Amino acid sequence: MGACVFCKIAAGEIPAKVVKRAAGMLAVQDANPQAPTHLLVIPTDHLASLNDAKDPRLLGSLLAFARDVAREAGVAQKGYRVVVNTNPDGGQTVFHLHLHVLGGRPMTWPPG
Ligand code: AMP
Ligand code: ZN
Repeated sequence: MGACVFCKIAAGEIPAKVVKRAAGMLAVQDANPQAPTHLLVIPTDHLASLNDAKDPRLLGSLLAFARDVAREAGVAQKGYRVVVNTNPDGGQTVFHLHLHVLGGRPMTWPPG
């Protein structure tokens, strides 16, 4: 997956503001933040989307990591949103699975 931007971030080949690491995953600041806190939880191994994630343990670990990242970012008590955009209708633009962790302002519903 030589051209995948999140594979390159995971490999340290392009810079990113890494806020937390764990086995098989990392959290970085989004380059185009949509909220005061906007972090991305990225598995280090390439999976194009949630549709390709066959291992429920990995998905559980990613979600727990997102929860921990939100707590450490200081948004857990007031609240935050975890989003997994999936494929074009879901708004996915980077085709390497990632969880958005958004907080620091009230979120609206329904989403756009
Ligand atoms: P999505 O639209 O769900 O695929 O989200 C992709 C996200 O990746 C967007 O919020 C982008 O701002 C973010 N993004 C793209 N390239 C980078 C990068 N090099 N470093 C950090 N965030 C990025
Ligand atoms: Zn990738």
